[in-house]
Amino acid sequence: MLPTTSIYIHIPFCQKRCSYCDFNTYAGINHLIPAYVDAIVKEISFYGEMFNGQLPVKTIFLGGGTPTLLTTPHLSTILDTVFVHFKVDSAAEISLEANPGTVNLEYLKQIRRIGYNRISFGVQTSQVRHLNLMGRIHNFSDSIEAAKNAQLADFDNFNLDLIYGLPDQTLTEWEDTLNMILGLNPRHLSLYALGIEEGTPLWDWVQRGLVVQPDDDLAASMYELANQRLSESGYYAYEISNFAFQDQKNDWRCQHNLQYWHNQPYLGIGAGAHGFFNGKRTENVSGVGEYLRALSQTAGDLRQSPAVKQTHIVDNFTEQQETMMVGLRLVEEGVSIPDFTARFGSSPAEVFRDEIQQLISQGLLEMKTDEFIRLSHKGRLLGNMVFQKFV
Ligand code: SF4
Repeated sequence: MLPTTSIYIHIPFCQKRCSYCDFNTYAGINHLIPAYVDAIVKEISFYGEMFNGQLPVKTIFLGGGTPTLLTTPHLSTILDTVFVHFKVDSAAEISLEANPGTVNLEYLKQIRRIGYNRISFGVQTSQVRHLNLMGRIHNFSDSIEAAKNAQLADFDNFNLDLIYGLPDQTLTEWEDTLNMILGLNPRHLSLYALGIEEGTPLWDWVQRGLVVQPDDDLAASMYELANQRLSESGYYAYEISNFAFQDQKNDWRCQHNLQYWHNQPYLGIGAGAHGFFNGKRTENVSGVGEYLRALSQTAGDLRQSPAVKQTHIVDNFTEQQETMMVGLRLVEEGVSIPDFTARFGSSPAEVFRDEIQQLISQGLLEMKTDEFIRLSHKGRLLGNMVFQKFV
């Protein structure tokens, strides 16, 4: 039986590169968008035919980059192609990422009508000096307008991404951002600590002393503050960096990302996209030109997309390790012991006895027999230390 799968589609175009960004994205080549959409359509069709149109799909996610640089006919073509070639669940979550500086009400209404039912805005912060430092193309009033317009366009399910631990950012500035964001009633929030990645302009500025290195302890205090403010406002942390609004009737967690955290299969489509299917991890060629060339050729190996650059077989033990590492990010549900045991034929405590015992004795993990293993409160703050034990 074919497993229920998710589809990630990468849109690598941005109007301008942000100073901290190390994603596979490109500015100044928007003239290639029409050809890229054609190539995406080919790759989706390739996978669809590989499974004779029978692969069940529960979530579709257009990430980037800036998917909202695409026209609505382009976004419609991509989604229609997925629906033609896969068995998409009638309740599928269909998300796209958006830059608040690229959307207006009419555009949002159109993409909602096309079938996208979840939108995620990269707001990042409310302070103009930090938006400028990060090289964002929008200001905070654009973010407010985008969030309000999303609701007017019937996007009940919308997420806002924020970044904390910015150079020179104070706790008060972070609290101001949180308070303003909460006034917009998002259903979901993703909060990430700024990473200064080598090769980015921001990394260079920090090396040259032009920008101060963010303070890790202050960033940890910001994370604690966010946990407290969000919980007071009706949100719960279901993953280390992700918060959903508590609602009796609806589950506002990101179903697409839950597929990753449950270590379940997904197809990666587009330049630089990664996939995990049938015990194999795939990585596509990353450049837009390379991707267009790959998709212009006739597929040689019909078991693999022509865009795939590398494939790694995931052996059983590696899959067990990965299931622990990603599952422990889910701070509420943790790793389900019955699910793990059904999947691998042994329980987590049988496979990782020493690691689990040690982490429990250090107060970093908690286990409820036959139910779950998850991070303790202390473990949430030292998550990376815990995950490394399963590498
Ligand atoms: S908008 Fe997002 S993907 Fe594009 S450059 Fe900025 S951070 Fe990177």
